[in-house]
Amino acid sequence: MGCVTQDSLPYLPLISKLTALRGVGPAYATIFSEAGFETLRDLLWALPYRYVDRGSLLKISELDRWHQPGGDREIVTVMGTLKDLRQSTTRVQRMNLTEALLEDGSGTLRLIWFNQPYLARALKVGDRILAFGPLALGRHGLEMRGPACEVMGRGNGPEEAWVQRYLPLYRKLGPITGRIRSRFIQEALAKVHVTESWLPIELGRGLPDQLSALKMLHQPPDDTDARDLEARSTPAHVRLATEELFAFALGICIRRAGRLKRRGSVVPTSPELREKLRALLPFHLTGAQRRAFKEIVEDLTSGRVMHRLLQGDVGSGKTLVAFLAMAMVAETGGQAALLVPTEVLARQHAVTFSRLLGDEAANTQLLLGPMKAAEKREALARIASGEARYIIGTHAIFQETVSFKNLQLVVVDEQHRFGVKQREALKDKGQDPHWLVMSATPIPRSLALAVFGDLEQSVLDELPPGRQPIDTKLLDPDDAERAWDAVERELAKGHQAYVVSPAIDPMDEAKVPLRDIQAMEALLRARFPETALEVVHGRLKADEMALRMKRFVAGEARILLATTVIEVGVDVSNATVMVVDHAERFGLSQLHQLRGRVGRGSARSHFLMLSGTETQRLRALVETQDGFRIAQKDLELRGPGEFFGTRQSGIPQFQVADLLRDRKLLSQCREVAEGVLASGLSEGQQAWLRQEQVRLRLAEIS
Ligand code: ADP
Ligand code: MG
Repeated sequence: MGCVTQDSLPYLPLISKLTALRGVGPAYATIFSEAGFETLRDLLWALPYRYVDRGSLLKISELDRWHQPGGDREIVTVMGTLKDLRQSTTRVQRMNLTEALLEDGSGTLRLIWFNQPYLARALKVGDRILAFGPLALGRHGLEMRGPACEVMGRGNGPEEAWVQRYLPLYRKLGPITGRIRSRFIQEALAKVHVTESWLPIELGRGLPDQLSALKMLHQPPDDTDARDLEARSTPAHVRLATEELFAFALGICIRRAGRLKRRGSVVPTSPELREKLRALLPFHLTGAQRRAFKEIVEDLTSGRVMHRLLQGDVGSGKTLVAFLAMAMVAETGGQAALLVPTEVLARQHAVTFSRLLGDEAANTQLLLGPMKAAEKREALARIASGEARYIIGTHAIFQETVSFKNLQLVVVDEQHRFGVKQREALKDKGQDPHWLVMSATPIPRSLALAVFGDLEQSVLDELPPGRQPIDTKLLDPDDAERAWDAVERELAKGHQAYVVSPAIDPMDEAKVPLRDIQAMEALLRARFPETALEVVHGRLKADEMALRMKRFVAGEARILLATTVIEVGVDVSNATVMVVDHAERFGLSQLHQLRGRVGRGSARSHFLMLSGTETQRLRALVETQDGFRIAQKDLELRGPGEFFGTRQSGIPQFQVADLLRDRKLLSQCREVAEGVLASGLSEGQQAWLRQEQVRLRLAEIS
């Protein structure tokens, strides 16, 4: 294959360093690198954040006609020269105000911004700019409020050429402005050479090849549909998304195949064991619990390493299933560990387990980070000797100093991605225990298959009998008294109450005034002077926290005021009311988790959210108690990244694909990937896959 262009310039492979471009020296390369751009591929796959359609540009003189009273929200685009730029402070509310006049030969338009003082430095009189924003009728006539701007030319400098219909815009990276970046992209597109694609024919059918797709997205042809471009649904987008999803799917399939080959300990079963386990149970299992446990038993006896995700709505009884699995191992000579995210939860589970085990409670062992030295030494000794068979703890379980006698099962509670590294560490120590992950948040089934496709899955889709729906209300902060009345009523019946506060400080990172936990404490003490109250938050020392929680669990404290430290797992069935302050500060799934802290007993429970904003979103919680539906809604509103908490979850960072939107495409990719894997990967495919995996951060996925 020829490597030389007509004018004898060598083609560059996509994996070339950015310094291969004219104008990218070491300084720019460093800036690019800090933003995660190393190669031409990185540069080219970062698509424009927006396209301006020249056909949609308006003359300033036309705007009057365009602007509809009440239609303030419509975004319009104008281009012109900045004539005036000034800053002031508004008299009311003392906000910083930046004002500019834009002229385009047909007229002038006032642009205004609130609290964006840096704009006065970024823009200069004489700049030729594109401005996008909503029009509104101000005191001086029509104006554009808070527009986004793009500098197209400065002073006597060259004006950006705009020949084609669509102008792609790129985010600036430090001193590398969008315009400069655009020039590098043009150069890269002219020089780059894409050898082969590893996409199987059945996935690439009807789609442009990779280089054409990149060209179409950086230099959209004039006949491209503007809506498709904006919706990221052109064939070129589909091509790139498919590449990403196929690499992802292949990675998952490889991992799964590797795991299925691993031999796991065979946990013996017998009728006696079954009888023994049954005797430990305080109640009849729900149908869903029975199904899930059966699936786990099949795994544990299969001779392969189990790697299963147990999903279930809050309150569906995941702990009991975990306990049974652990008992199966522990009662047949093995050790089982339960890993939880917080010490509060660890202590609580230890109590639950001791209660379930009755006479044999001594077989349990708590292991926490900040234990007293002597206590810890004893714990480690009991774990090493095998005397401790149910080990419950935080990540301290996986510290170097811990050595197990015969660890056969690890259960990870409430933190679905936690433990990947730990498992690798165990494997390095020659141990490969069975693994059961319990998810704190129900994950919509379709997405779970996509993201956790390498795990087997069990779902608890049934609540234990006798649960009543939780009375859920959304109250304006002005109506807070209704919430306190509800708390008072429940306390009078002998029940307990939670109050959740979003912040420890009155000004948190969002820089909006909030009622912080101290203010809330003062309020509660004034409103309920006779009632014992405990306050817990993340800044307390662990033992102090444990002490306060214990007083609430024991019923000595009647109100627990807390930050979201109580979000997961806390189980006090006498608590029947929860009030959440500033509910808008929480994600829907998070609120649903919080709500799950009440309604754990037979008494009717109440969940009251105080919020003056975003009530539309919060209404979803009033409307349904189905965690899967709430999760779906949350996912749609926030996107998969936020939903899973990207960093911890290790879900891949796609540049073009969208897990939610491209679900079908992903399952198609998975099918094809299975086939490709069955017939073996070529060397080229393997090299490509290695690169893609680094880029998608697939290595971080278990
Ligand atoms: P989650 O799935 O949210 O972790 P838990 O395991 O904490 O739920 O269980 C919630 C509550 O339901 C606990 O108080 C537990 O004792 C109770 N529970 C669990 N399984 C059953 C059952 N089969 N019948 C009755 N109550 C149950
Ligand atoms: Mg739980």
